[in-house]
Amino acid sequence: MKIGFVGLGIMGSAMATNLLKAGFKVTVWNRSIDKCAPLVDLGATVAASPRSVAESSDVVIAMMATPAAVQSVRDGSEGIVAGLTSGKGYVDMSTVDVQTSLESVRLTHEKGALFLEAPVAGSRKPAEDATLTIMAAGDWELYDSSLPVLEKMSKKILFLGETGNAVRMKLANNLVMCGMLTALSEGIALAAGSGLDTAQLLEVLDSGAVTNPMFRLKGPQIAANKEFPTAFPLKHMQKDLRLALRLAEEVGQPLFATATINELYKTALAQGFGDEDFAAVSRVIRK
Ligand code: NAP
Repeated sequence: MKIGFVGLGIMGSAMATNLLKAGFKVTVWNRSIDKCAPLVDLGATVAASPRSVAESSDVVIAMMATPAAVQSVRDGSEGIVAGLTSGKGYVDMSTVDVQTSLESVRLTHEKGALFLEAPVAGSRKPAEDATLTIMAAGDWELYDSSLPVLEKMSKKILFLGETGNAVRMKLANNLVMCGMLTALSEGIALAAGSGLDTAQLLEVLDSGAVTNPMFRLKGPQIAANKEFPTAFPLKHMQKDLRLALRLAEEVGQPLFATATINELYKTALAQGFGDEDFAAVSRVIRK
């Protein structure tokens, strides 16, 4: 199977690398062309446009920052859809909103091709280690035929039915993750402000019911209040909060804590933390 990969950011680069290492023939495209070089070293071919990626692939995968970024590589005369023909597949692994996915499936079906939305849970390290969780929804036939590809990037894959469901699931997942990180940041700030040893707070948390890998990874970074190596850019987390709140409004579900946490993330963005890891939100919390 010939694979196309569009969007070589933190996640896309690691995921495409794993496909190359697994032996797939991969054609890549990225807006900033310099990010293609490490993949070319591993055997990838660089295409001139997203359209050209789709033309030379059986299945084209995209891993874009935002709904607007998805549109910019999907639409127009040089976009992915322009290169799709009957029998090809388009797998969008970006975290977007339902409306963007529904437009992607509509445009793809117009060309007689198949569409799958497949956002992921897991950050830079799971992407590198091929241990992501993939939430897939859309055309079952494409899901079925793409499984050997998806399996090379993940440890768990769920099929969730019709297009839109994977996006909804991904937004619910990130809302939980963001709430947990905010609570961790506030707990550490309170401990530090009360003169307690934050390392001991992390020890207490890690021995109780709330122990989890994210606290283990981010806890020491937040406690140290120094470097936040970017695994998940804060600007993308705020985008996910915004999309989750919009979805909640559409279905009439109040999200009390998430609405407040979104204001916190907007403040962090305004203070210039957008390109840092989302753990940098702790800088806004800590006095
Ligand atoms: P990233 O490092 O910021 O990469 C974003 C990609 O989108 C880059 O290839 C970038 O191109 C491209 N892009 C942005 N705007 C564009 C535009 N207008 N036109 C064309 N290309 C554009 O982001 P990431 O962390 O890999 O995340 C990618 C997606 O996965 C996001 O939807 C994010 O929410 C989701 N996600 C991320 C993580 C994580 O931990 N990082 C985890 C799960 C899901 P350039 O290189 O030219 O800027």
